[in-house]
Amino acid sequence: MKKLTVLGSTGSIGTQSLTVAKKLGWGISALAAGGKNINLLEAQAREWKPELLAVMNESAAAELKLRLKDTSVKVCGGAEAVNEAAAMDTDIVLNAIVGIAGLKPTLTAIDAGHNIALANKETLVTGGDLVMSAAAKKGVKILPVDSEHSAIFQSLMGVPDGNPYKILLTASGGPFFGKTRDELKNITPADALKHPNWAMGQKITIDSATLMNKGLEVIEAVHLFGVSPKNIEVLVHRQSILHSAIELEDGAVIGQLGTPDMAIPIQFALTYPNRMPSVAPKLSLTDVHTLTFEKPDTDTFLCLATCIDAINKGGLYPTAANGANEMAVELFLKEKISFLQIGEFVARATEQAVNLKSFTLDDVFEADRLAREAVLSYL
Ligand code: NDP
Repeated sequence: MKKLTVLGSTGSIGTQSLTVAKKLGWGISALAAGGKNINLLEAQAREWKPELLAVMNESAAAELKLRLKDTSVKVCGGAEAVNEAAAMDTDIVLNAIVGIAGLKPTLTAIDAGHNIALANKETLVTGGDLVMSAAAKKGVKILPVDSEHSAIFQSLMGVPDGNPYKILLTASGGPFFGKTRDELKNITPADALKHPNWAMGQKITIDSATLMNKGLEVIEAVHLFGVSPKNIEVLVHRQSILHSAIELEDGAVIGQLGTPDMAIPIQFALTYPNRMPSVAPKLSLTDVHTLTFEKPDTDTFLCLATCIDAINKGGLYPTAANGANEMAVELFLKEKISFLQIGEFVARATEQAVNLKSFTLDDVFEADRLAREAVLSYL
């Protein structure tokens, strides 16, 4: 039986990954999460009997240790426990932690020689160069879980290495597509948390509403596929049926279509290169009927323009954009700043970032800290 470790097991991707694992008949080596949902963690530990349950929050870990003392599950708390889970013997590590908190566990799993099914896009946005070179050195695969990157990855299968191509990165456009800045002035967290096509965690749902998510995905694609940012075109595709495509030199466009269901990319990252029956519903193109494509509005949605600018500049600019966004989203969800201020603050903090041509992991965390601090100073 194959085994999987899931980091971020209580989240949107984490829980869907366990559904996929059940369908595939896989076992679980280790589970890790922040510790906000103790009841779910207890239920997951009882159902999957992992060797290790790692919980970032120490008091949640202590409570779970008590609750699970009648089982053989080892419970550990703190950041080191999450890294221990990432390093544990397994067939593949699925990283579905949200934010830069996922970076060290990804590097730890690579160091342990594990292939990674990567949902945590912030890993590549903040530490892309370090992660990709560590993976190459260890000979481990980074398999994309993000639906767009999975679609690009699938479209590239069969294209010989070295063939130039352009990426057509699709975006749903989020709940506010077509709105002017004036119309976005009074958007509340509740409005922004209503995504038209996908049910996701809070942070990525806000990122989708601001188009930061698409900006992060442009940066993620640059690292995963080694393409130049100028060869990535973002297309707003409201139906979320074409999950992204590539355009080859002869004009052929190859894409991957499917229902907007994360079970498909999650499963393909686990079973690559094989295909297995999935829990996802099949696509009926006659039901969808119409597919539309439009240009994004980067004057209204500043986050996308900031991310493209940041990856063009390179260095630590993308890390700063990400850190500023994590802080700004947190403040927006607490109703401390407005929806439009997210984009304004991300742009300002990224502009202010100190750049270094070559950098270490410590520099990445420092750039992240400075960007968060910059956002707080704008209040
Ligand atoms: P959620 O917020 O739903 O889940 C995040 C998970 O990470 C939770 O289990 C959370 O635990 C855990 N977590 C947070 N901090 C830590 C930490 N320091 N150590 C260990 N675990 C931690 O997020 P999503 O599932 O929506 O997204 C996860 C990642 O996948 C993000 O990077 C997102 O961009 C990406 N992604 C998500 C998609 C989706 O459809 N949801 C699609 C494509 C990509 P707790 O709740 O206890 O804090």
